[in-house]
Amino acid sequence: MVGREADAMHLECYVIGGWVRDLFLHRESKDIDIVVVRNEGVKELRSEGGRSGIGIALAENVANRLGKGTHLSVFKTYGTAQVKRGELELEFVGARRESYQHDSRNPIVEDGTLQEDQNRRDFTINALAICLNEARYGELLDPFDGIGDMTRCIIRTPLDPDITFSDDPLRMMRAIRFATQLGFNLDGETFDAIVRNKERLNIITRERIADELNKIMLSRRPSEGWILLDKTGLLPLIFPELVALKGVEVKEGRGHKDVFYHTLKVLDNVAESSDKLWLRWAALLHDIGKPRSKAWDEHAGWTFRNHNYIGAKMIPGIFKRLKLPLNDKMEYVRKMVDLHMRPINLIEDTVTDSAVRRLLFEAGDDIEDLMLLCDADITSRNEEKKARFHQNYQLVRQKMVELEERDRIRNFQPPVGGDEIMELLHLEPCSLVGELKSAIKEAILEGIIPNEHDAAKEFLMQMAKEKGLKD
Ligand code: ATP
Ligand code: MG
Repeated sequence: MVGREADAMHLECYVIGGWVRDLFLHRESKDIDIVVVRNEGVKELRSEGGRSGIGIALAENVANRLGKGTHLSVFKTYGTAQVKRGELELEFVGARRESYQHDSRNPIVEDGTLQEDQNRRDFTINALAICLNEARYGELLDPFDGIGDMTRCIIRTPLDPDITFSDDPLRMMRAIRFATQLGFNLDGETFDAIVRNKERLNIITRERIADELNKIMLSRRPSEGWILLDKTGLLPLIFPELVALKGVEVKEGRGHKDVFYHTLKVLDNVAESSDKLWLRWAALLHDIGKPRSKAWDEHAGWTFRNHNYIGAKMIPGIFKRLKLPLNDKMEYVRKMVDLHMRPINLIEDTVTDSAVRRLLFEAGDDIEDLMLLCDADITSRNEEKKARFHQNYQLVRQKMVELEERDRIRNFQPPVGGDEIMELLHLEPCSLVGELKSAIKEAILEGIIPNEHDAAKEFLMQMAKEKGLKD
């Protein structure tokens, strides 16, 4: 249909980029990019911005032809237009040639040929085009052997990689992101050029970097992305706290595990059982406080006391710098880092019910995620040990289920609230009300009284009597 409209307007048009790549890789792909080229000798169609409006013109005709239920958005300054109908999303743009200045990743854009448009694409696998015009329908244009690179599983730039990366350094992040998403390798030349141009990343906004990091995190094996970021030297520029996890120090013949590689293993373990982006971030950050808490003890060897608290404290600063959200997502990650050592302390037989209740109370509905993180945190190479640790966590889970059935702590709402306390004791709002409320909560968590209204009320009245509040 698009092809026929283009024929009528004497234009050539091609599906290009990600959609074509994903077609060959059997990946799902939503947005379809269509690039439009003027036939020789056809009168110029120009938009107000001065740049060729042929993408917009074709989009308008296609939208008209599709009729009711079609939504057209035109972006004149960019010379692009989007046609939306249900799930279908077509993005139209005139073919363009780009030239870059040193201090910006925003190029000067001029009309160009299809070949010029393909030249400006970041990777060979992203430069494939398929013709939509009727006479050449389905013809593949692959000037850089993108298909070959797909079979070889390689990410490679179409032109000189030094120029490609220096022009738009975001492409270095995209290279690593695609390698991770697709399970591909970086071509040697492409890899070396990233190493040479790494400092150029400084002109990229942190929001865009965060976008790429999140895509890496959502890949099947996110560790691959972080390892590439490390090997190319990009990691210190974006995430020095992770670099600090690297290495093993040995003293008196005693070492500790390399926290960087341990962390990446935990991250992959979590990724195997959960698609949750923020649980994956929690895995990446769970030991982030270890370098700052590291100490040598004559008897115990290397210790990392309170690394969970120190790590939790670091989360807001890291999220702020990386431009990750500072809302409940951050709070969730902070909580996971903070609590990740707690279940291990619940393993001993001597553990009290109140310790289990307290953890249930603090973790709330995130307790399942926390236990998943703890299971993932077991990275011992000793299979017997591993099996024993997993089994221990099963026992902790069992304890939690039993207590939860009895006391319903997870979404704890105090059975006697502030309003009722004020009414019963004829109090005005004051700090005493808060103190009484938290005393009730403590009594329930400690198992002094059950999590029930009447018991809590009785406990409150008893306290009031002792304090001389009520006759
Ligand atoms: P995804 O949608 O999964 O991120 P994609 O390849 O579709 O992958 P987009 O950002 O949607 O990526 O871009 C569409 C196409 O535009 C790419 O396939 C590539 O050809 C081109 N492109 C995008 N960003 C750049 C860039 N920074 N430099 C060069 N070409 C780019
Ligand atoms: Mg896309």
